[in-house]
Amino acid sequence: MDNCLFCKIAAGEIPSKQVFEDNDVFAFLDINPQAPHHILIVPKCHIDRIENLNSDKADLMGKLVFTAKKIADELGLKTGYRLVFNNGPDSGQEVEHIHLHLLAGRKFTWPPG
Ligand code: AMP
Ligand code: ZN
Repeated sequence: MDNCLFCKIAAGEIPSKQVFEDNDVFAFLDINPQAPHHILIVPKCHIDRIENLNSDKADLMGKLVFTAKKIADELGLKTGYRLVFNNGPDSGQEVEHIHLHLLAGRKFTWPPG
């Protein structure tokens, strides 16, 4: 989609620190990390929010989670990590292209802020 930051990053039109790529998924370091490890995993196709996900793309969401698992394995994150999808204004979603946050390297509190 034109004018979408994460579409442009996934297409290589805007530089990022790439962590993983395949036909469907792109992963890169968050520019403003909230933990020692903070990686964003995005689908290459543009979907703005989870709430607008159609059933034909449900498998893609599993792929995002499985990509997070593979990256966590590669990083050796043995003591845990947090996976976050923000959806909509109340959640703090800033970029309107679905993305999974993989956060690790410190202890996280619950409930989240
Ligand atoms: P969210 O608040 O869930 O929409 O998360 C958007 C995330 O994108 C934030 O953690 C930002 O730090 C991150 N971000 C924004 N611009 C960039 C960029 N150019 N490269 C990498 N991460 C970015
Ligand atoms: Zn997009």
